[in-house]
Amino acid sequence: MGIFNMLSNDIGIDLGTANTLVCVRGTGIVLNEPSVVAVEKASRKVLAIGAAAKEMLGRTPGEIEAIRPMKDGVIADFEITEKLLSDFIKRVVRHKYLMKPKIVISVPSGITEVEKRAVRDSAENAGAREVFLLPEPMAAAIGIGLPVESPTGIMIVDIGGGTSEIAVIALNGIVNNTSVRIAGDELNEAIVLYLKKNYNLLIGELTAEEVKIRAGSAYPLEKEESIEIKGRDLVAGVPKTMKLSSAQVREAISEPVDAIVEAVRQSLERTPPELASDILDRGIILTGGGALLRGLDKRLKQETNLPVVVADDPLTCVVRGCGAVLENMMKYEKVVIRSRRD
Ligand code: ADP
Ligand code: MG
Repeated sequence: MGIFNMLSNDIGIDLGTANTLVCVRGTGIVLNEPSVVAVEKASRKVLAIGAAAKEMLGRTPGEIEAIRPMKDGVIADFEITEKLLSDFIKRVVRHKYLMKPKIVISVPSGITEVEKRAVRDSAENAGAREVFLLPEPMAAAIGIGLPVESPTGIMIVDIGGGTSEIAVIALNGIVNNTSVRIAGDELNEAIVLYLKKNYNLLIGELTAEEVKIRAGSAYPLEKEESIEIKGRDLVAGVPKTMKLSSAQVREAISEPVDAIVEAVRQSLERTPPELASDILDRGIILTGGGALLRGLDKRLKQETNLPVVVADDPLTCVVRGCGAVLENMMKYEKVVIRSRRD
């Protein structure tokens, strides 16, 4: 490692709707925290950011609110997003006496100009010297190590918390992009709804996420499982325990899963034929936490007749891509969106 890398303050950030990851050039991933901020309602004072704040989701006393500032797509709450970013940046910037950091930050590819500006302003207010925006699917592809500069088409399906992004990449650009606001959060919500409707059982968002991770699937499992869950009986008003099978969980999440599959199919229909045949060779690549839903690859394969590959460590592809761009700014000059002060 060279002296410049050792003293580097430059950082890459995957500002996700569910999780924010930060890497430092020359060091690797240094922070991985939920994108959650707990605030005191009356004063708007920030009480906790990250994992500590996530633990408060659904169990906060009346005067405290746990906010996911990017929950419903991009930036739903500018002010809180900025607080989250500046806290995370402060936690990782080591050489405060050196130059302010250069920051590569990934953004959903469907982001509006206003939202781009908000991300850039947040990063600058949080101490960045220069800000480069990198479209998320591009970051994911680079993080995986795919040749984004090549004319051969690459299809990335990134399923996060708030959005699923489907993009075809070739020649350093995004050829077509679909962003749907149906992703991990919607699967959790579908589980909450299913239990309420069918069993009068009320569970919180975090419990639903746990059910999804432990027992969720998008395709019949070789061996179906069952888990025990705790919630509140809506009729009796008391805590209740019940058994839930993986087949039931699959049924509970089937609607949002179908919607994601449909979005992939529509995106394929819009893909130019030359690139579509590349995808036939290389396959569809799944990234983001949603890629870990069991059987999603099989389900997509069945529906599209294309090979489907789950990326290694799908939760970190985007931040690794941001890191790779920091390491080689020259090579990736064409894929970043430069910040401009106007
Ligand atoms: P974002 O980029 O929007 O922050 P991530 O890529 O970090 O999102 O993915 C977070 C989502 O992935 C959450 O909805 C989480 O519940 C989901 N997730 C994580 N692990 C699994 C798993 N094993 N099975 C299904 N979903 C998962
Ligand atoms: Mg993401």
